[in-house]
Amino acid sequence: RLSKRLEMIAEEVPAGSRLADIGSDHALLPAYLAERGTIVNAVAGEVNPGPFEAAAKQVRSSGLEHRIDVRRGDGLEVIAPGEVDVITIAGMGGALIVSILEAGKPKLEGVTRLVLQPNVGESLVRAWLLEHNWALIGERIVEEDDKIYEILTAIAPGQGDMTNARIYEPLALSGKTIADRNVLLKMGPYLVREASSVWVKKWRFELEKLDKICAALGRSELDASRQKEDEFRQEMRTIEEVL
Ligand code: SAM
Repeated sequence: RLSKRLEMIAEEVPAGSRLADIGSDHALLPAYLAERGTIVNAVAGEVNPGPFEAAAKQVRSSGLEHRIDVRRGDGLEVIAPGEVDVITIAGMGGALIVSILEAGKPKLEGVTRLVLQPNVGESLVRAWLLEHNWALIGERIVEEDDKIYEILTAIAPGQGDMTNARIYEPLALSGKTIADRNVLLKMGPYLVREASSVWVKKWRFELEKLDKICAALGRSELDASRQKEDEFRQEMRTIEEVL
């Protein structure tokens, strides 16, 4: 059985896809999708020896060698241009996901869909997608084992009629207008609209964390700390306004 998080990611992979799962660890996601016949085939990429071995073992023991190729390498280095149409990158920080996409840009040729699940730094991933004209077509949020995860799905430039310009245009929500794109990049243009209880919980928790940081900064004598406190207080007000 897959975790709720991986199951949600799996749901974002269309039937008939040729998949690359980068940072696949135990290759649970491609194995699940191959067993169900959702994907035609997959590359499971891993840079580290332990997880690479774990992925290879999983694929062997499930008898999926004819569908899943486990390859050792950094990021998108493991795929050839045009080899896959969907890439999943899950369970790492947003900065690392962005660096993998940035370094692997030539390999994105022919890829139609990215399904990304940053553990932190979601805004960095949204900003990268926006900057490179990948249209965010959906966002999901899930809580599992006291952690909250966001799953971002984007389609390649020129695919479909969804445009980032539309997704990030100023948003009127029950009496308030969110005109600052940075707020939507941080809190998620779809997640803001949906305002699910898990998402509200996430941001209430972020507010608590920021409040603790501000309290600590407020006890400092340093001007720089005071300045930082002001910045964080401003950030808190912005979050509170959206909630
Ligand atoms: N994707 C799986 C999931 O969501 O459950 C596994 C997540 S695991 C926490 C992150 C994996 O990414 C690790 O196995 C790590 O070795 C791998 N990884 C980190 N940087 C990578 C890179 N640049 N290229 C490929 N794999 C990487």
